[in-house]
Amino acid sequence: MSKAIIWCRVSTTQQEFDSQKKDLIEQAIRDGFKKESDRIVIGEAGASAIKMNEVYQQEVDKLIEAIDTVSGVSTIYVWEVSRLARNEIAFYQMKDKIIKNRIQLICNVPQIKLLDDNGEVNHGMEITLNLLVTLAKQEMEIKMKRFDRGRRRKAAEGKWTGGTISYGYTVDFNRDRLIVRDEEKAQYVKEIYEKYEAGMSQAAIARDFFERGITEITLHQVNRILNNERYTGKMMIHGGAFERAFPPIITKEQYERCRKIADKNNLTLSKAKNVYYGDHIVRCYKCGKYCDVQGVCYHCYDAFNRLKSLSSATAKPNCDNHLCISANCMDSLLWYVAIEVETDYILNSAEKDRQLYQEKIKNLKAKFDNIEKRLAKCDEKRQRVRDVYLEGDLSIEERDKRYQKIELERHDILNEKIEYQNDIEHYENLIETVLGKYSFDDIESIEGNLKQIMKLSQQIASITDDKERSEIVHRHFKKVTYENATIEIEFKTGKRPARASFIKIYLYNDTVLYYYFVPNNGRNGGYFKADADGNVLNEIFPEYQRRFMDKGKIRRREEGRKLRKEYKEENYPKEKGYLYGVQEIAEFLEVRWATARFWVSPEGPGAKITKRIGRNIVVKRDELVDVLSKFTSKVAREAAERASRKL
Ligand SMILES: [Zn+2]
Repeated sequence: MSKAIIWCRVSTTQQEFDSQKKDLIEQAIRDGFKKESDRIVIGEAGASAIKMNEVYQQEVDKLIEAIDTVSGVSTIYVWEVSRLARNEIAFYQMKDKIIKNRIQLICNVPQIKLLDDNGEVNHGMEITLNLLVTLAKQEMEIKMKRFDRGRRRKAAEGKWTGGTISYGYTVDFNRDRLIVRDEEKAQYVKEIYEKYEAGMSQAAIARDFFERGITEITLHQVNRILNNERYTGKMMIHGGAFERAFPPIITKEQYERCRKIADKNNLTLSKAKNVYYGDHIVRCYKCGKYCDVQGVCYHCYDAFNRLKSLSSATAKPNCDNHLCISANCMDSLLWYVAIEVETDYILNSAEKDRQLYQEKIKNLKAKFDNIEKRLAKCDEKRQRVRDVYLEGDLSIEERDKRYQKIELERHDILNEKIEYQNDIEHYENLIETVLGKYSFDDIESIEGNLKQIMKLSQQIASITDDKERSEIVHRHFKKVTYENATIEIEFKTGKRPARASFIKIYLYNDTVLYYYFVPNNGRNGGYFKADADGNVLNEIFPEYQRRFMDKGKIRRREEGRKLRKEYKEENYPKEKGYLYGVQEIAEFLEVRWATARFWVSPEGPGAKITKRIGRNIVVKRDELVDVLSKFTSKVAREAAERASRKL
């Protein structure tokens, strides 16, 4: 029974495809392919234009496969020849196949029948078909070229060809879509460049616009404008293919100058960047956003985001968590806990690794032991070959051939032996040297274990590189939060409540650790380990990491120092024979600081001549020498004698 192939070309809409398919099927039924099993339908709707070629090739492949595998294919129905034109090679491939198999091709637009009624190829039709395909292909190419050329020319002329255009420009539809400056917005662009060049920060510029009620210029927008070279009139590759000219708003030179400023800012920014151990781990307990360090404290980025109102006209910080925690205090705790966790991690995983390596060694040793047996088998084989040869059943050539084979086998086994030997040594080495760093000799004894843990944690604690420390912190800690709490702690005067930060550290291994930090505990702040319910367990003593200093504090400290110096120089100058402070006294007498302090202390010989200015001690040199020279201590008398020569 003969069969028909209904080849529906892909087309843009399902509707069009369906109606084509229906028409072709009806045509086939009229021609006698009445049963559904008589008809093979190829093709489907909805391929994108880019994939057209691929889809077409696939369909041709299917068609050829159907002709080859299904017996009795006699007719192919297709809707439109020009649509076959996209892939010329595939088309001729298909045509060859159907002509060779004497298959009728019936096309609707234009109406073509490839074979005459006698089954012979109608050469006129064949040529028509070829021509149509070639023409269709050419037409398509010309169309595409024309289309491209048009767009390219329009873009080069500064005409809008679709897509978004930069801020500061608009499309004049009355002048054939010419891109023109939007004068008001172009003025803003100019202003942004001028202000940036004058030294204003991008945020300050955005804030300025925001305060003037020009909310469309967000911080993001300012950044984009400062990075858009189109404002110089330069043609930019747009949409991958077309260069588009814009009327210039700023000069090329100004653009370059602003780029240089930006590069410099980026450089200083990255240089000055501090390593915060809690960076991208510490999160706001309320909104869950990351906390960042502004000044010397961690706080919720969202709640403190003063720039947020500048990045969008409507957005305001959502979070009202204004809790801060000192970066020094938080990082001190994080590093302290990280040492503990890292120690534990190394010990446990090292122990796991050790077990793994020992398992490997065990397997290798078993294989190694088997080697001797395998070698013995080789010897047996060799023996047998010799026996057979001796009995005259083997030629000398055959014997040598077999010997050779056995020899190769033996060689391989010996190689394996060396390999196993090497592997065993490697793993033993790993256990001994790498893991031996944390010697496991007496892992069984608690004492040995403790010693080991201490040794290891000391090793880790001795890491000073901030980046390395931060890496360790980040290796284990997934999230850290802090919130306010009040706990009872022991002061010198007794137990009373104190304000604290309740800190939760979430580890990657699903453990959560709890701590309190009490900023004002009568000393310099204290840390306590806690449990999940917030009960205080015990005090811990992280080494305080003084890494970030409040600039104000540093300034006040320096100012105080300066004032003290001025006071001293005005009232107790060296020229008038004053010694100000224990250090100066010790240097003058050439004795240790502690000795000098004792001699001028209330219990010492120089008590009477000592003036106290705040915490400082002032003496006159001649008086001091006089007092000490009469003192009972020989050391003092000697010092006085030495010093008297300097008077
Ligand atoms: Zn928050």
